[in-house]
Amino acid sequence: MRTGSSSSSSWRWQLSRAMRLSLRWFRRCRLQRGGRGGATERRIGGRLLELWSYSRLLLTSLHFNSLTNADTLLDCAFEPVYWIVDNVTRWFGVVFVCLVTLLTTSVVVIVYLFVLPTILSTYPSYWVAWHLSCGHWLLTMVVFHYYKATTTSPGHPPKDKIHIPSVSICKKCITPKPPRTHHCSICNACVLKMDHHCPWLNNCVGHFNQRYFFSFCLYMTLGCFYCSVSSKALFLEAYGAIERYYQTPPPTDIYIETTAQKSIIFLWVLTSTVTVALGGLTLWHSILISRAETSVERHINHKETKRLQEKGKVFKNPYHHGTMNNWKLLLGVEERRHWVTRVLLPSSHLPNEDGIMWDFSFTRTDPMAI
Ligand SMILES: [Zn+2]
Ligand SMILES: [Zn+2]
Repeated sequence: MRTGSSSSSSWRWQLSRAMRLSLRWFRRCRLQRGGRGGATERRIGGRLLELWSYSRLLLTSLHFNSLTNADTLLDCAFEPVYWIVDNVTRWFGVVFVCLVTLLTTSVVVIVYLFVLPTILSTYPSYWVAWHLSCGHWLLTMVVFHYYKATTTSPGHPPKDKIHIPSVSICKKCITPKPPRTHHCSICNACVLKMDHHCPWLNNCVGHFNQRYFFSFCLYMTLGCFYCSVSSKALFLEAYGAIERYYQTPPPTDIYIETTAQKSIIFLWVLTSTVTVALGGLTLWHSILISRAETSVERHINHKETKRLQEKGKVFKNPYHHGTMNNWKLLLGVEERRHWVTRVLLPSSHLPNEDGIMWDFSFTRTDPMAI
């Protein structure tokens, strides 16, 4: 450590010496020229000197600042890259929301035009009733939760109140940060119980819209699974017909038929892909909810667990109230009937906590635990 610090200090000393010498040389040159040169030359020289001293001041303030470390320097160097990424994500958010709306609408249209008529004409009445009720229930839940997840604010710390429980100060907002609050560089604001910034919602997922986000993921996965299973027989039929269509010369009057077949293939491929991809994401978030962790806290807690493990201690999440209680807290289930009215049906109820004060009901049973 000593060797490292002495070499770094000698390196710093050499750099500052080189800078001082260059400045002295520059001043001498300027003085020599100043005797002969005109006013324009002096003006240009003055500006260059000003630029130089500004750069020197900038370097010195970064170099001799006790708070500066390699991370700060890297942050400064990558600031333009972050700016571009944040702005691109912000703009892509609008495109992604349009894409979700467009693809969902296309799936619903294809089901109404090609899948539902087949179900109505070929299935027995009890299956028809089941398909009609299940399909429409899933569609309602998807539309409701997507609308709420995109339009509900995730929650921000109050700017007018100073005396709120806080763990640190946000260096970008210059406001106190309550526990579980993190700064979102895309929204450029602190978000209560921040999970992540979702480009598909063009919104941050936080304390007040996490339930909508999770329910949307769950019902979208179920909806896509339902469409994929319901249209499987039609898809196999259409796939075989399309293969034959490309192998033999096509008749002229089957344009509408091929459109239907292509639409069903598109429907099945899209819904099956979304089922797998979104199903994985939903499963991951289910694990996080069971552990009472947000995506951000997952990384923090993982690091903390490792750090304490090295000291022979055990990390315990202070927000973990038991798997079932964590689910009840997220879904807002206080009574048994709420499983139906608040989980299986659209509901706009707010979370119990305000996102600022948290209930630390965790008790230390292990004397070595933290
Ligand atoms: Zn902030
Ligand atoms: Zn955000």
